[in-house]
Amino acid sequence: MYLETYGCQMNINDTELMEGLLVDRGFVRVDEPETADVILINTCAIREHAERRVVGRIGELQKYRYENNDLVLGVTGCMAQRLGDQLLDGGPAVDLVAGPDAYRALPSLIASIQENAVERGQSLLTLDEAENYEGVTSVRGKGVSAWITVQRGCDHRCTFCIVPYVRGSEKNRDPLAVLDEARAAVAQGYSEIVLLGQTVNSYQAQGQDRRWDFTRLLKAVARLDGVRRVRFTSPHPNDVTEALLEVMAEEPSVCRQLHLPVQSGSDQVLKRMVRRYTAESFLDKVDLARSVVPEIALSTDVIVAFPGETEADYEKTLDLMKRARFDDAYLYKYSLREGTPATRFPAADFVPDEVGSARLARLIGVHRDIQREINQAEVGQWREVLIERPARSKDDLQGRTESNKIVAFPGDPSQIGEYMSVRLTGTTGATFMGVPW
Ligand code: SF4
Repeated sequence: MYLETYGCQMNINDTELMEGLLVDRGFVRVDEPETADVILINTCAIREHAERRVVGRIGELQKYRYENNDLVLGVTGCMAQRLGDQLLDGGPAVDLVAGPDAYRALPSLIASIQENAVERGQSLLTLDEAENYEGVTSVRGKGVSAWITVQRGCDHRCTFCIVPYVRGSEKNRDPLAVLDEARAAVAQGYSEIVLLGQTVNSYQAQGQDRRWDFTRLLKAVARLDGVRRVRFTSPHPNDVTEALLEVMAEEPSVCRQLHLPVQSGSDQVLKRMVRRYTAESFLDKVDLARSVVPEIALSTDVIVAFPGETEADYEKTLDLMKRARFDDAYLYKYSLREGTPATRFPAADFVPDEVGSARLARLIGVHRDIQREINQAEVGQWREVLIERPARSKDDLQGRTESNKIVAFPGDPSQIGEYMSVRLTGTTGATFMGVPW
């Protein structure tokens, strides 16, 4: 089988899960589609651009299907859930589509198609409120961090977001199973654990004794033998509590790094997005994080040109960015997703594309200036770096600091997976160059 993944870390983690299920049934993963008898494309639906790329890729992969009559070509994940039978009926033909809650049934369905027991063109699209994939052993990829999904789906209904419609409501895993998975990851040699969920810090589950919230889960993972770093993503700002921040401050293995997606600095826009906080209450959360967790690095997501965003609203976003001074930011121009509530805003509310592009470009400039100032102040400091991979620059390695900042420095690929003390010698603005101890 050949597996190809698009989209977020949750999807990468889902591919590892699918691989675990398929390996259990005797399938063997190959690195190239040429030699595969099964090709699965695990897809993302968050932006139209991502979906267009996948449609193009399905077209390319179809040549293997025409060359090999036995080949099964499938589309899985969020785009499969969103477009479902459209993927089977129109455009490049595929043999199966399976949504994020249907992966347990995937190996049997593929085997049935291969044995001609069922026709090609099957769909597995039921969202299952109970499916947590408990008991499935993922096959971890080549990275140095073990990503562990603790929560799937989302109970929020932000009006721009397709996630609740393709991944269903929030489902939290058994905390003891999460701890077992983290212990197993440590035994496999991973020392950095990343806890993953759509709004990971709203995690609530019943353990053997009493209820577990995310703070308790984070603390328990942080205290496991062999765990040197713990991160989590992506939290919802409303569920960032003082207790959670105290765990971040007190547990040495919890990285002092927090992603706080703000999306807009205008209360008017936040209300239309149904984000359930105001710019001021968000900034209070930023202040609280900085007062409880010294030297915490903060990152964010922003969408500009959301329907109804005026020039005055946009200026408020610029102001918030200048006040919060994020270490990193993922900045986007609004892109309409069919199936989301935002499609129902009046046509007149939609911001012209060229206005959106100009707003995004200016915001990127503002953020980059702030980021450069923050990073320049770090040059000359020593940082512990977990080495991840060869860097693009020849003979260099690339790794991350506790603050999730990328550093390139001279080293040998045999050091990948090790921790090293590195002095930051310069910055491009976003990333660093360094020299090891
Ligand atoms: S919190 Fe909002 S943006 Fe995040 S996954 Fe849920 S609906 Fe989407």
